[in-house]
Amino acid sequence: MSLDRRIDAVHLCLSRALEQHPQAAFASSFGVEDMVILDLIHRLDLTIEIFTLDTGRLHEETHALIARARTAYGRAVHVFHPDTEELETYVAAHGSNAFYDSLELRKRCCAIRKLGPLRRALQGKSLWITGLRRAQSPARSTTQELAFDAGNGLMKLNPLVDWSEAEVWAYVERHQVPVNALHRRGFPSIGCAPCTRAVHPGEDPRAGRWWWEQSGARECGLHVDTHGRLVRAHTTTTAG
Ligand code: SF4
Repeated sequence: MSLDRRIDAVHLCLSRALEQHPQAAFASSFGVEDMVILDLIHRLDLTIEIFTLDTGRLHEETHALIARARTAYGRAVHVFHPDTEELETYVAAHGSNAFYDSLELRKRCCAIRKLGPLRRALQGKSLWITGLRRAQSPARSTTQELAFDAGNGLMKLNPLVDWSEAEVWAYVERHQVPVNALHRRGFPSIGCAPCTRAVHPGEDPRAGRWWWEQSGARECGLHVDTHGRLVRAHTTTTAG
C-alpha cells in the first residue's frame, strides 16, 4: 500500500473513532510512531486530549522533544506523574535502581511509574490511542487496530498497526516531523533512561528495552491484558 493510502486510512480511522468516542485520549511516549500520530492529529485538526507519562526516569532527549512538540504543534500535553507516596515507599525499601535486582522489582517500578499514572490518565475515557505496530516485536505481531482493553476497561485504537518502520520514517521525512534525537543514535524504542540501550543493526527493535532480562519479559505492562498477555482483539473493525 502506498504511503498516501496509509495516511488516508489513518485519517478515516481516527475521524470515525472520535465520532463514536468523543472522550478519547492519545497516549504519547514521544517515540517516532507517536510523533507521526501527533502530526496527523494536528493536520486533521482533531480535538483530542494528548497525555504522556513522565516516569521521572526519562531521557533528557525525551523531555527536549516534549517541549519542542508543544511549540511546534501548539497543543497541550497533559503530563501524568507517579504517585509520590507510593514511589517514596518503594525507593525507601528497595533503592532507586531496584529494577536491576529482579523481574518482580522491575515490574513493580513499572507499575508505580507507568501503570498507576496510566490508570489516572484513562479515567473517564472510552478509547485510548497508541502508536503500537505489529512489526515492532514478535510479542506485538497479533495486535489489532481496534480492540477492547480488558485491563483498563475501554477500547484501544492502534492506527499505525499495519505500518512498516520504513513507512513511519517516510512520513517523518515527508512532513519534517520532529523526533527524539535518540532514534538517530540506535534507539528504535525509547523508554526510561536506565532501562533502555541502543541496539545493533539487525537486532530486535525492542532488544534495548530491559536488555538484562529474558526477551519474553520485555514489556512494561501498558500493553498487556489482565492475564499478562499482549492484548488480542475482541473486534477487528474500525470504529464507525
Ligand atoms: S522502565 Fe525502568 S525506570 Fe522506567 S518504570 Fe520501568 S523499571 Fe522503572
